[in-house]
Amino acid sequence: MQAAVVTVGDELLAGDTENTNATWLCKQLTDRGVSVERVTTVPDRIGDIARVVNEYHAEFDSVVVTGGLGPTHDDVTMDAVAAAFGRSMERNEEAAVWLETNGGYSANDLVEGTTDLPAGARMLPNDEGVAPGAVVGSVYVLPGVPREMKTMFERIADEFAGEATHVRYVHTSDPESSLIERFEEIREKFDVTVGSYPGDHVRVKLSAADEATVDEAAEWLEKRVERYEA
Ligand code: ATP
Ligand code: MG
Repeated sequence: MQAAVVTVGDELLAGDTENTNATWLCKQLTDRGVSVERVTTVPDRIGDIARVVNEYHAEFDSVVVTGGLGPTHDDVTMDAVAAAFGRSMERNEEAAVWLETNGGYSANDLVEGTTDLPAGARMLPNDEGVAPGAVVGSVYVLPGVPREMKTMFERIADEFAGEATHVRYVHTSDPESSLIERFEEIREKFDVTVGSYPGDHVRVKLSAADEATVDEAAEWLEKRVERYEA
């Protein structure tokens, strides 16, 4: 399964808020065997959000969008997702009932539009806040507040599945440029994906669908590099 993550918010682009939602979602999806192909941040503008949602919906199996769900003037994500699918926004009865029974909000307490979702959307209850999320086709729309986003994701986590990958790390103090030939060799010998992440030492990430293969590959590489001792 291939997925894209879209984070929405002017404050992310301005550098006011660190995009922890993107990192968290990428990790969750990857852990479930989903291949995350794009992470894109867009401003709180209907046209921009609708354009990427439309494009990624066409290209990938699922799209996770977060941010801009509230009822304030700068929250336009739901309108944009509706626009991307050519649907109207309409009052979602299920959302209204859920907010009344679980949140204790009567329709009169809520800011107008709070229970509006794209027509035909599946409502996702917000256990930590007010604004409901939604699923439209294979597009999942979640709130921006990290706590709300995480709890809502748990409700849909099982819908993201892929081939499980097994990962091993090898840490080495060898310079990255000197490892190129060993990387070529390991890829010839084993059916593994090799990632190389330099920092104060090089972290080599080996991944494979088969656990024994990745274990063998890690053992092979460990014998051929200078082990990094922290
Ligand atoms: P609300 O209903 O409270 O308005 P919302 O779904 O509309 O929530 P936003 O308005 O986009 O979400 O963001 C609310 C807050 O959540 C932001 O001020 C920011 O602190 C945090 N937030 C939003 N997006 C992210 C993100 N990608 N990573 C980390 N924090 C985020
Ligand atoms: Mg908001």
